Amino acid sequence: MQQGRHLTTQSFHHARRSNGKLPNGKAFSHPDDAPHGLRLRALKCDSPQSPRGERPGHSAGLSPETIAAQAGGVVDAATGAVVPPIHVATTFVRDADNQYRRGYCYGRSDNATVRQVEDVLTDLEQGQATLMFASGMAAAAAAFLALERPAHIVAPTAMYWGLRQWLTEDAPGHGIEATFVDAGDPAALQAATRPDHTRLVWIETPSNPVWTITDIAETARIAHAAGALLAVDSTVPTPVLSRPIGLGADLVLHSATKYLNGHSDVVAGGIVFAEAGAAFERAARLRTMLGSILGSFEAALLLRGMRTLHVRVRHQCASAMIVARHFRDHPAIMRVLYPGLATHPGHAIAARQMHGGFGGMLSMRFKGGEAAAIASAAAMQVWKRATSLGGVESLVEHRSSIEGVGSPCPADLLRFSVGLEDVGDLIADIEQSLPAA
Ligand code: PLP
Repeated sequence: MQQGRHLTTQSFHHARRSNGKLPNGKAFSHPDDAPHGLRLRALKCDSPQSPRGERPGHSAGLSPETIAAQAGGVVDAATGAVVPPIHVATTFVRDADNQYRRGYCYGRSDNATVRQVEDVLTDLEQGQATLMFASGMAAAAAAFLALERPAHIVAPTAMYWGLRQWLTEDAPGHGIEATFVDAGDPAALQAATRPDHTRLVWIETPSNPVWTITDIAETARIAHAAGALLAVDSTVPTPVLSRPIGLGADLVLHSATKYLNGHSDVVAGGIVFAEAGAAFERAARLRTMLGSILGSFEAALLLRGMRTLHVRVRHQCASAMIVARHFRDHPAIMRVLYPGLATHPGHAIAARQMHGGFGGMLSMRFKGGEAAAIASAAAMQVWKRATSLGGVESLVEHRSSIEGVGSPCPADLLRFSVGLEDVGDLIADIEQSLPAA
C-alpha cells in the first residue's frame, strides 16, 4: 500500500478496511452477530493483531510536525482535496452478500472523520491505537470503567479537579477505589500500590494546578511491578513535549479540548493505547455502548487545530518561560510555579522527560493571599478570566474558586494559560494588575 504524503482517502480506507472477519476468523455478516463494540470494531480489523490497520505516518517515518501539519497526509481520492471531507453519515449500506466490507456500519461505533483524528494522534504519541470521545472526561471515565472490578487505582493529589471529583464521589459506586498520593514522590506512589489489586496508576505531569512533575519511566516500573497499567494524562505537555508511551505508559489521555484543538471551540477527548489489546477493546466497547464517540464536525475542527499544534505549543512554552522568569522575583509574588524554573522541585525530571519546553501553563502564589490574587485577576484586561487552558487566547483563573470545598489548591494561587499574544502585552497586563510595592 502506498504510504504517507500522497495517501488518498481510498487507500487510507483500504488500509483500515475490514477483511469481514471476526477475530476467530469467522465471517461477520450482520451487526447483530456482534453484540458489542468489540466485534463491531473487529469488522474493520486488518487482522486481530492490528485492529487499527496501517498508520501512514509511522510506517513512512515522517516527523511529527509533518504528520500533524498534513493531518496524516490524507488527500481525498474523489476531488484531490487536501482537506478531507467531513463524514456525517450515521449508517452505511451492506454489500450484496449482506456483509460490511467497507468497514463502517453505524455511527455510534465509528466514524471516518473521527478515525482521521485518531490516526494522527496515534502517530504523534507513537501508540498502536486511539479512541476519541466527546470530552476528556468521557475518555477518562471510559479508561476507568474499562478496568476489571473491583479495581484499586492510585492517582495524584494534584490532578485535574473534575477527574479527582469523579474518582472521589462517583467511582466507588462503580467498584473503583482510589488512593491519592503526592505523585512527585516515587516512594509514595510505590507505597500506595497494592500488588495484584491495583489495576491502574494514573498520573498527570505537569499536574494541575501546581505543576507537580512525575517521573514517568519510574512510575511505569512501579505500576508494572504491581501488575497495574500506567495511564498518563498528557493534556498539558501534549505529544510535542512528552511521549509517555516511549517511557513505559500503557495509556495516554488527552483533553483535546485544550492544546490539541487549541482554539477554545471544541470539547473532545482521547485515549491513546500503547497496545491495541484488551484495554483498547474494552474501552471501544464502552464507547459504543454508552454512545460517547466524538461528533464528526468536532473531529473536523479538531483535525484542523492539530495541524498547528507544534508551532502553537512551542510559542506558548517560550512565552510561559519569559513570564515565569519575569515574575519569579516580583515583590507581590510569593512563588511562581513553573517546571521550567530551576527552583521547581521537578525541574530536573521535567528537563529529562520533556523535550523542547516545559509547557504553556504556570501558576503564581500571591503574598497578599486570596484577596490579592482575586483582585489582580479582576484587574487584568488582556488575560481573560475563564476556566480551561491551551487555547490561543491567554486565560487566568483563581482555581480554588472553581474547585470549591475540599480542593487542595492553595487559595492564594492564580493559574495562567499562556496563549499566542505578544508576551510583552501579557507581562504588562499582569504588572498593572499587581499592587504597587
Ligand atoms: N485532564 C485535564 C488535565 C484537564 O485540564 C481537563 C479539563 O480541564 C480534563 C482532563 C477533562 O477534559 P474535558 O474538559 O475535555 O472533559
